[in-house]
Amino acid sequence: MAGLPYIVGNWKMNGTRAMLNEVRAIDRAAARFPKVQVAVAPPATLIYRTRDAADIIGIGGQDCHIQESGAFTGDISAVMLKDAGADFTIVGHSERRTLHGETDADVKAKAEAALAAGLGVILCVGETESERDAGRAEAVVGAQLEGSCPQVDGAPEKLSVAYEPVWAIGTGRVPSVEDVAAMHKSIRDKLVAIYGEGGADVRILYGGSVKADNASELLSVPEVGGALVGGASLTAESFLAIVGAAASLAED
Ligand code: PEP
Repeated sequence: MAGLPYIVGNWKMNGTRAMLNEVRAIDRAAARFPKVQVAVAPPATLIYRTRDAADIIGIGGQDCHIQESGAFTGDISAVMLKDAGADFTIVGHSERRTLHGETDADVKAKAEAALAAGLGVILCVGETESERDAGRAEAVVGAQLEGSCPQVDGAPEKLSVAYEPVWAIGTGRVPSVEDVAAMHKSIRDKLVAIYGEGGADVRILYGGSVKADNASELLSVPEVGGALVGGASLTAESFLAIVGAAASLAED
């Protein structure tokens, strides 16, 4: 798997201009960790200001519309994210899939719109607790990948996949290292089936209750190329502890 470990903060619907101090602190510290790729996805209202406040870290959106512009009140297009200074966008987060009814086809169209706008993409997949209990986790995630991976030229180079078990998001619960390893291997196999050789280089992140005290263990699992971090990305202190854990592993 190519590339530096990728540690991405997803701020969700949190953050006003007061949070720009956290961005500045994260950005300053990122300079000390050249072996880690660091990024933050603030709410869309802060992307422009975040870009202005940060020199080193990547900046992302949390979602985008499939159209470039039009009568879609409240929505934000990939072109607009790019124009505001974003480098990438998250698509298919489970909160979008559940709370906004987004289907795999929607997520695929969003990913393709983002790539067309020149953005990188972090595509989220993950099973619910009942799906895992029923022994269907890998089948569910495989089907999500088949339905939502973008199918345009050059897609694998600009794509990261985030495996986020829905039951681990914001709950403090994490899957066992063995389960993370098995799922990431299954995702890798699926990406190679979808993209051929290019699928071997797509970074696969783990997300779901990553914190300073479990980051090293999770980031050491084979095929875990980084982390998508929600709650623990909201302060520079807790986020940088995770970045620091990734940096220590990258030094080894
Ligand atoms: C997320 O929502 O992407 C996430 C991983 O959240 P948390 O780290 O808070 O579980």
